[in-house]
This record gives sequence, C-alpha cells and structure tokens, in this order.
Amino acid sequence: MISEEEALNRILDAISPRPEQKVRLSDALDRFSAYDVVARLPLPMFDNSGMDGYAVLASASKKGARFRVIGEQPAGIDRQLRIFPGETVRVFTGAPIPTGADAVVMQEDCTREGDEVVVNVDVDPGEFVRRRGCDLPEGQKILSRGGRIRPATIALLASQGFADVTIGGEVNTAIVSTGDEVVMPGRKLDQGQIYDSNSILLQALLHRCGACVRVVEHCPDRGELLIESIRRGIKNQVLVITGGVSVGEHDLVQTTLRSLGVEIDIWRVAIKPGKPFLFGQINECAVFGLPGNPVSAFITFLQFVRPAILKMMGANDFDLPKTPAKLTVDLSNEGDRPHYVRGRIENGTFAPIGRQESHALFGLSRSNALLRVAVGESLTAGEIVDVQCCC
Ligand code: AMP
Ligand code: MG
Repeated sequence: MISEEEALNRILDAISPRPEQKVRLSDALDRFSAYDVVARLPLPMFDNSGMDGYAVLASASKKGARFRVIGEQPAGIDRQLRIFPGETVRVFTGAPIPTGADAVVMQEDCTREGDEVVVNVDVDPGEFVRRRGCDLPEGQKILSRGGRIRPATIALLASQGFADVTIGGEVNTAIVSTGDEVVMPGRKLDQGQIYDSNSILLQALLHRCGACVRVVEHCPDRGELLIESIRRGIKNQVLVITGGVSVGEHDLVQTTLRSLGVEIDIWRVAIKPGKPFLFGQINECAVFGLPGNPVSAFITFLQFVRPAILKMMGANDFDLPKTPAKLTVDLSNEGDRPHYVRGRIENGTFAPIGRQESHALFGLSRSNALLRVAVGESLTAGEIVDVQCCC
C-alpha cells in the first residue's frame, strides 16, 4: 500500500497533456487555455456614455444651467460631434462622448424644452462617462495558460474580437461498472440486486472535469465479457472501472487487465475510504480501477482521476478548491489511513454529515465538502480547518 501523495505523483508523472486544439469560443467552456492571452483592445474601446442623457462640460453645468442641444449621438456610429460653451449633445448609452464634453447628465435629471435642455442637478466631471481602457488596458493578460475558460472568460475573449481559442486537448473517457448484483436503473430488480449508481456518478464527475464520456457499460463478473468491455474502454484516453478491482473470487478486473497487457502501476492506496484503488496504463490509455462502494469511488475519483484528467486537458491547477471553515465537532483519526470526512460547509462552518462509511451514499449526497484528517491528527471543535469543496 502506498501513500496518497506517492500515488498522485506517480499518476501525474505517467500522464501527458493531450495535443492542443483550436475551437470556436462556444465550444471552449470549462476547457483550459493553451496559451497566455493578452488584451489587444482596451475596454471600453472609446469614451462612451453610461446613460441616455445629455453630454456636457461639467464645470459649466451647475444645477439650473441651460444648454442648446446641437445634435444627437446614438450608439453604433461616431458622428464626431463637438460642443462649445452653452451647448450639449443628446447621447444614448454606449454612444461616443462628443469632443468638449466630460460628463453625461441622465435624462431623468434634465428638462427638455424644444431644442434646449435645463439641467436639474450639479454635475461632476466624468459622471456617466465610461473612459477608454478604464476596465481593461491594452496588453493586460486576460487568460493564463492552463486557466479554466469560464462563461465570463468566453465573453471577454469575444469582446476582444476573438472567434476561436486554442485549448488543451479533449479527453475521451469510458466507464465500465462491474458486478453481478448491479442492475441499470429503470430495470426490474430481483432480490439481492442493487441499482448501479456508480456509472452515473462517474459520468457526472467526468463531465464536471470537462472530459468527454464516450462509453458507459455495465458488465457482470464474467471474465469473457469483462475482457470485451475493457477492450472497448481502452480505446479511449481514460478508462474508469468500478467494482471488482479487489482480490475476491468475483473480482476479475485485475487479472483481466493484466491478460490484456495493462501495466498496473498502483494497487492499493492508503486512503479512507478508497483503499482498493488501481492505476495502470496501456498504450495511450490511463486505466483507473475504483472501489465499488459509491463513496470510495467518489473520493478516489476526486483525489486521483480528476487531477489526471485535468493534466491531460492542459490545466495549470489540479487541486480541488479549498476554503477555510470552523469545525463544529472534535475529530481525530486513530486509523492507519488519512480519512476524508464528508460534511457540509455552511456560513463558514464545517460539520460532518451522515454515516461516514464507504457505502453511505445518502450522507455523501448531503455533503458539499471533504475534510482530510491525517493519520494521528486530532482536531478540536472551533478550530479553523481547510476543507475541499466538492459539490
Ligand atoms: P466491489 O468493489 O465489487 O467489491 O463492490 C463493493 C461494494 O460496492 C458492494 O457492496 C457492491 O455491491 C457495491 N457496488 C459495486 N458496484 C456498484 C455500482 N455500480 N453502484 C453501486 N454500488 C456498487
Ligand atoms: Mg463486485
């Protein structure tokens, strides 16, 4: 049995990023930029009005001031208007600011009288003017290599006129759930059988990573069928198998993987829940064997499979987001493996929730964070701990 740190290091050492690809912005969500990107345009691109109103020189625009309206400046076309003392231009949101003006009075604060307008408030310079470059100067880094592309990132790239972005490559994955007792939801259940919850769990977790799930199969504990499922699965860059990875008579995954030439680099990791974890490789495929117990599958996925997939996708950060929280109870770990305690972060506190056993899926479903308690560690209620967010 090896430590989690060693397991993760070995997995990450074995994994290479996939070749980058250029995609339309609309296909880039939750992928990772292959390059640093800098702003080629300032934002805003030109001084423009933040309101529908009247463009004025603030110093000449005290409450009660009267101006002659010399023209209209809509958004979308620059009429290159200029105002002189006593003049104003009717402007609309997003319209270029006429030369000579340094503020906009919103129309609600004005009284229009024919081709004149009376300003009913005092006006400060810069009011309702969105200055060129005030949000984003040209040359500013807007995306880091390996940074996740989020909805606002896509919008920012679009605002720069980019139609495409170069990202880390796609990761195709396959899921094989094993077990004679496991039945797909929707089917009739016989006595002693259970529904397959791991397939859909892993599918969801893979989607959350941004991976592409190509195949989801269930396979009974029968060597001749398993060999075919695994053969299909290893055509992808990642194969995740759940159940059957242990050493009982019905656990056929390891022998089947070996018979197909998969080199098993890791078997058994000191982590609770999740000890019966396996990692191997064949050709271009990374093979993960996760325990059948749902919570163990969940934890080992997040600690080992997720970082591997993120590395393949070109991410620069493989860690789950962490946040400090005040522990609500005493917790200690007298076992021989680090323990991932499932719990909830709420209003800055972390409280363990539900049964802390590897089959306890309801407890897991109510949790939104994990607290790693190291071997021999004792934590006291009220202490601030760093928890991994996993919702
Ligand atoms: P195994 O790792 O095959 O020994 O399975 C460990 C436990 O996980 C057993 O109680 C199985 O019934 C359960 N299990 C295995 N596969 C699944 C699955 N796909 N969905 C839900 N539970 C499972
Ligand atoms: Mg089994």
